[in-house]
Amino acid sequence: MSGPMRPVLLALLLQIGVASVERVEYDYYKYHPMPEITAWMAQTVKDHPDVVTEIAYGTSYEGRVITLLKIGLETGIKKKAIWMDCGIHAREWISPAFCQYFVKQLLQEYQTDGKLGEMMKNMDFYVTPVLNIDGYSFTWTNSSNRLWRKSRSPGPAGCDCHGTDLNRNFNVNWGTVGISSNCCSQVYCGSGPLSENEAQAVAQFVAERKNDFLCFLTIHSYGQLLLLPYGHPNAVAPNYQELMEVGLGAAEAIKKVHGMHYRVGTSPDILYPNSGSSRDWARLIGIPFSFTFELRDNGTYKFELPEKQIQPACEEAYAGALHIIDYAHDKQFGHSGTAPATTATLWMVLAAALVSSSALL
Ligand code: ZN
Repeated sequence: MSGPMRPVLLALLLQIGVASVERVEYDYYKYHPMPEITAWMAQTVKDHPDVVTEIAYGTSYEGRVITLLKIGLETGIKKKAIWMDCGIHAREWISPAFCQYFVKQLLQEYQTDGKLGEMMKNMDFYVTPVLNIDGYSFTWTNSSNRLWRKSRSPGPAGCDCHGTDLNRNFNVNWGTVGISSNCCSQVYCGSGPLSENEAQAVAQFVAERKNDFLCFLTIHSYGQLLLLPYGHPNAVAPNYQELMEVGLGAAEAIKKVHGMHYRVGTSPDILYPNSGSSRDWARLIGIPFSFTFELRDNGTYKFELPEKQIQPACEEAYAGALHIIDYAHDKQFGHSGTAPATTATLWMVLAAALVSSSALL
């Protein structure tokens, strides 16, 4: 090979190298540390600028920015909305993995799946991949911190422990059942309702748009449960019956994917009583379909679900979440068929009109 060819070849190889570096696919079936999830969010916006925007809506105790992805088609018409948050409990790593999978699936399918396309026109999806961003980051620092659950704010004066259970910090029966006022407890409910930045961020963002939200889905692990309001044993949701039916439908959809069994019910009925959860708060302010998902598993690996199970866990939970979202959508917007069915309906209406008008003549 003669001299002048070499630089050309080198440039070509370099270009291929650079291209392949840029094109590295995000691995949805591995757990990712916070900086990688943050980069994934930015990349997702870049890849789908027409349907995805990133919204910063709070700051964690340690000063990290809490962000969500807003996903939906711009229609110029007032839309309804779906809320999903993941990673409120730091150690439940399958949860952020699920939010990312959910976003991926939505973006991958809405152009070919008629129903999803319709939902993207009628509703915006607000997805927070990691709400307890300090706690999640902390679980990655070293293996002895892997099972951290709470936020990372310091306790009150005279108590040396860190962290509040963010899912006991919302303003609904706050501080009554399934909590502790000891700041060293895993279920410390904080110094007052919404004492924590992260809970405040959600409460403010959601309350400002509360009439828009049809669903509030908050994702945890483990236990394979679909929990509905309320966590307080003496409180009953006005649509308890409907929530049970929708939940059982979701569990059935989940079972169809990999045969996994999910139980459905209120927290006191199937897990334990609790107060101050975001699920209960969302129902209290009027969001009709509020659920906690407790993803895989059932106690074998607990919060340390092996990466091998990320894909099946996400696939089944996606089917469950979509069942609920589908139901809420159809209740609001009606159940419209696919395009051919619509055309057929149109023809039938036309034919009926012709028949009746000829009868008049
Ligand atoms: Zn949890």
